[in-house]
Amino acid sequence: MKVSALGEFGLIDLLAEMISGSQDKSAASYRKLVIGIGDDAAAWKGDTGTQLVTTDSLFQGVHFRLETTPWYELGWKSLAVNLSDIAAMGGVPEYAVVSLAVPPETEVDDVKALYQGMLDLAQRFGVALIGGDTCRAPLVSITVTVLGGAKDKDEKVLTRSAARPGEKIAVTGALGGAAAGMEILDKKLEIDAGSSSQLRKAFLQPEPRVAEGQKLVELGVKAAIDISDGLMSDLKHICDSSRVGARVEADRIPAASAVRAHFAERALELATAGGEDYELLFTASDEVIDKVKAELSCQVMVVGEILAGEPGSIVMVDARGEPVRPGKGGWEHFNA
Ligand code: ADP
Ligand code: MG
Repeated sequence: MKVSALGEFGLIDLLAEMISGSQDKSAASYRKLVIGIGDDAAAWKGDTGTQLVTTDSLFQGVHFRLETTPWYELGWKSLAVNLSDIAAMGGVPEYAVVSLAVPPETEVDDVKALYQGMLDLAQRFGVALIGGDTCRAPLVSITVTVLGGAKDKDEKVLTRSAARPGEKIAVTGALGGAAAGMEILDKKLEIDAGSSSQLRKAFLQPEPRVAEGQKLVELGVKAAIDISDGLMSDLKHICDSSRVGARVEADRIPAASAVRAHFAERALELATAGGEDYELLFTASDEVIDKVKAELSCQVMVVGEILAGEPGSIVMVDARGEPVRPGKGGWEHFNA
């Protein structure tokens, strides 16, 4: 069987089962494990509190094209996507290691720009870049691993499995900007300079919601994921892990203003299935969400609610309650 027949998530499930079936659960490392495969980061009980680790790669030709991606932004983004997974746990990122593969003919100045992008973002969050690996390869790839921890001594983290029926589903910021930005770069679309730079930045230089994630934990939110694959796809991860269903209201989805202005009829598709916005999707009671809205400096929109019923089933409805299908389902590796 080919990997493509299983799909990315099928392959991860298969590996997770194999790993789970073969490891010695009585080992000290296993006994300290709090969250293994299946969330935005893994977590374990360290001597000084809950520790977190996550890793993500960017591959030339899969995640970026060098023709449209400046090296500085490539560095920024390769760390940002990892910080976003720590943000989705409500954690504090602390250390990063970087595995870099480049063709021999790569310019040294380009590699320096890549690292400057990473370092500028690392500095913002007090992340120390403490090691990595370097090798030759036919294409550029950057794999970053970030270690961090829960912010407070009470050691709570946000998980994909904590959503409960009756909770509202909310999202930070605006969606669809990254997918629109990628399209503008790929197709060299000419739109007004302000929108163009806003969308380009959404795709190339996402701002991980690290402070916001920590605030969510503090305010009593329990369930969250970062939007890397697309709102619907990432909400599905929450619903699968939490064994719940969900109802999303299409009219409430906060498509970025520049997306609505320039991709009118496709705004909903880009905002729900575009991916790579690295906003946080979370669930909580009305009372908690009111507090979140009051405390976060970014926009927070309620887009639906968690339902009991068929685990993993999600319906999107329009203002009249009629089902809506907003185009494709979200990013998935190996999906033709
Ligand atoms: P994210 O989009 O948040 O980075 P992924 O969809 O990449 O999350 O991964 C989902 C879960 O599967 C995570 O817990 C991740 O650690 C785990 N995972 C992904 N690939 C592998 C693999 N090759 N081996 C073991 N675990 C994996
Ligand atoms: Mg994630």
